[in-house]
Amino acid sequence: MKIAIMGAMPEEIAPILEKLGSYKTIEYAGNRYYEAAYRGVDLVIAYSKIGKVFSALTATTMIEHFGADRLLFSGVAGAISSTLKVGDLIVATKLSQHDLDITAFGHPYGYVPEGAVFVAADKQMIELSKKVASEMGKCVQEGIIATGDQFVANEERKNWIGATFGADALEMEGGSVAVVCDALGVPFFILRAISDAADMDASFSFDEFLQTSAQESAEFVMKMVDQLVS
Ligand code: SAH
Repeated sequence: MKIAIMGAMPEEIAPILEKLGSYKTIEYAGNRYYEAAYRGVDLVIAYSKIGKVFSALTATTMIEHFGADRLLFSGVAGAISSTLKVGDLIVATKLSQHDLDITAFGHPYGYVPEGAVFVAADKQMIELSKKVASEMGKCVQEGIIATGDQFVANEERKNWIGATFGADALEMEGGSVAVVCDALGVPFFILRAISDAADMDASFSFDEFLQTSAQESAEFVMKMVDQLVS
C-alpha cells in the first residue's frame, strides 16, 4: 500500500509533515513531493498549488509516477450549507465541477460528453470516516462538494452552485482530483474543513481561519491513515 496525501496549499500539508518529522523531498514536474515511511506503509505527500489544473497534475503524478494506490485530500472549503460553520468537517460523497459549462449544446452544467456531472468518492473510506469521527468525538457531515477555478465570495454565485449541484461546500481542487482518481481506478477520499461561507466576507474569514481549519482537516486525515494502516 502506498498512500497519497494531498492538499492545495502549504498550510494544508504542513501539519502532516510536522507530525511525520522526517521525510525525503523529491522535486518533480515543477513541484515538491515528500516521501515517508509511516507505520510500515509508504506515504507520498504534496500540495498541488491552487486550482483544478495543478491539482489534476499532482494527483496524476502521485499515482502514475510515485505509485500511490489510494489518495486522501485534506484542505479547507467555503460552506454552502447553512449547517456548516467555520471549523466543521465535510466528507465528500461525490464531487462536481461547477464551472464546467457547455450548456449551449443542451448539456447539463458540469457535464461534458463521456464525462459525468458527479464522481463518487470511495465508499469504504467514507464508512471508515464515520468510525474515525466517533472515536475523535467529532461531528462530520457528508455532502456534495462542487469545485471550480474561482474563489467564491458571492452569495448569489454560492446559492446558484448549491441549487444547481445540490452542493454543501465548494472549493477549487476536489472535483479534478476525483476525475483523475476515478479514471486511474484509485480509491479517493476528500475531506475539507470550513474556512469561510463563500460570501462577501469570505476572503477575510479565509485568511483568519485557514491555519486552524487546515489543522482540523489534517488531524482527521492522519487518523484516517492510522485506520487504513492498522
Ligand atoms: N489566499 C490564497 C488563495 C486562496 S484560494 C492566496 O492568496 O494565495 C482558496 C483555497 O481554499 C483553494 O485551494 C480552495 O480549494 C479553498 N477554498 C476555501 N474557501 C473557498 C471559497 N470560498 N471558494 C473557493 N475555494 C475556496
